[in-house]
Amino acid sequence: MINLVIFGPPGAGKGTQATNLAKAYQLIHLSTGEILRDEIAEGTETGLIAKEIIDRGELVPDDLVIELIRHQLDNNPLAKGFLFDGFPRTLPQAEALDNLLVHYGRSVSAMLSLEVEKEQLLARLINRGNSSGRSDDANRSVIENRIEVYNQKTAPLISYYSKVGKYERINGIGTVQEITDRLKAIIERLPLNKRSH
Ligand code: AMP
Repeated sequence: MINLVIFGPPGAGKGTQATNLAKAYQLIHLSTGEILRDEIAEGTETGLIAKEIIDRGELVPDDLVIELIRHQLDNNPLAKGFLFDGFPRTLPQAEALDNLLVHYGRSVSAMLSLEVEKEQLLARLINRGNSSGRSDDANRSVIENRIEVYNQKTAPLISYYSKVGKYERINGIGTVQEITDRLKAIIERLPLNKRSH
């Protein structure tokens, strides 16, 4: 069993790579951003709370996203493993994920961190804004705020996972295939004891 966190700033390519890895290793891909966008599209109560926060480029409350993940873990008891994309994004979320996984007899095998410079992120996100239809990709100051929020609240997770030897750094510049290959090379050499839960 293997449970991976794909990590990195907005625009690092997490979603694209998560899709490829989930397929390659038959993992359940859990993107909190996607789940929240679905909630917004369906007009649920969670969606209503999330929309205005997402449009400002801020983070939705920890409790709310932790509940979404708990729900997904509950609904997929037979999963071979999970690929968490865009979660955790804060220290309380990382701690909650560890506790939730213990409850299900699982653990995070590795945190795969896609590293891309800020200038490149801005260029990618502005470009994506022309086609993604995402309101939070459409405005440069919202994009800059998302990168700022990442630096302040999410980047500290690098030390959280490094302390337990689970932080894996990947150069996020290159073609989609090149980056998928780099990720797979790391997954293939994860120690068995880390892959076995
Ligand atoms: P993403 O698709 O991962 O870029 O997420 C889009 C937006 O959804 C983020 O900018 C946040 O506003 C919100 N979001 C997604 N995942 C989380 C999370 N784990 N914690 C808080 N907010 C989140």
